[in-house]
Amino acid sequence: MPANNYNTVCIRGGQDADPTHGGILPPVYQTTIFRRKVVGEDQDFTYSRVDNPTVAALESRLGALENCLPAVSFSSGTSAISTLFLALLKKGDHVVCSDVVYGGTYRFLVEVLEKLGVTSDFVDTSDLASTKRALQRPTKLLLLESPANPTLKLTDIAANSDLAHEYGTLVVVDNTFLTPVLQRPLDLGADLTIYSTTKFIDGHNATIGGALCTRDEAIREELAFYRKCVGTIQTAHNAFLTLQGLKTLPLRLKQQTSNALAVASRLEGNPHVKEVIHPDLPSFPQRELADRQQASGGGLVTIVLHGGLPEACRALGALKLCTPAQSLGTVETLVTHNATMTHAEVPDERRLQLGIVDGLVRISVGLEDPQDIAADLEQALTIAFKEVCHA
Ligand code: PLP
Repeated sequence: MPANNYNTVCIRGGQDADPTHGGILPPVYQTTIFRRKVVGEDQDFTYSRVDNPTVAALESRLGALENCLPAVSFSSGTSAISTLFLALLKKGDHVVCSDVVYGGTYRFLVEVLEKLGVTSDFVDTSDLASTKRALQRPTKLLLLESPANPTLKLTDIAANSDLAHEYGTLVVVDNTFLTPVLQRPLDLGADLTIYSTTKFIDGHNATIGGALCTRDEAIREELAFYRKCVGTIQTAHNAFLTLQGLKTLPLRLKQQTSNALAVASRLEGNPHVKEVIHPDLPSFPQRELADRQQASGGGLVTIVLHGGLPEACRALGALKLCTPAQSLGTVETLVTHNATMTHAEVPDERRLQLGIVDGLVRISVGLEDPQDIAADLEQALTIAFKEVCHA
């Protein structure tokens, strides 16, 4: 990991706030167009579907944080992912993707790109031999997600990147769960990173947004060109709010990780919980990789209940403090039942094969006091296992 000055970068990185009047926050350029200074000559900003100064301020800061070119910002993590695929792939290309991956990534590859003649293989990238077997087929892009959503399975980013580059394959890592503060995919050899800024980077449930980061000028140019073509840029207002949230990212991650570990440790002793997964727990099966690859385990805890769908539904319904919802990374603790929420469109057989069982519950631990979070989860589990669920 490089020098740990993330607090400074998140608050000051990228650029001065307002060159016109000295405002300490960047102005929200809530405007569609920018007056042409000299007709016939290029200028930085012309039309807000192409570029916008407030969006550019967010891009500079994200670029400074990832130590790369200014990021390319999008209206959502999903539009970042879809624009990336459209920019880098063409008919006849092949993609290899981590088997446990955000449901929307799987959906876009299978439901949209297959129709356009792009094929995909979903493989267990935590096993390098599986990646190697898949790469025997000429592959344009290897997409890794580590930790994977929602099982928290890790993939060795450096080893997969080295291998993929031997085959001339570009490596993309969805780093939404850890952010550049806890994991540095570009330093580990990846060519691009994906962020849903909706999650930890904003952190306050105020926006939807996405970003792509790279150190390759030509790739960045291509991404910005496709963003213009597809119309997937972030709005000025959401860029402003995301910049505000970003300032406390390192502090939030530190506390959320500590809260997550406290909650995970307490749930390990709960009679209704079969398995507790958090990369900082001694029981985590990939501890060596976690210690080598990430600065800490992050704010997510995944549990598997002794029961199945009825108990999981009942538990989420009985929460009093934590919010049952399908997002993560925010100051509020969010509890997700992945089988019926984020991965509802993944065929049951495949979902179960990947370990996303009916009793799996993902907890994005927020900034409430950890004893209150744990107590709420415990009372919800007690109710869930007492009553019969008719879901
Ligand atoms: N990547 C990951 C790992 C996610 O968890 C999500 C959303 O849950 C996305 C991408 C998509 O982000 P968005 O909801 O901003 O479109």
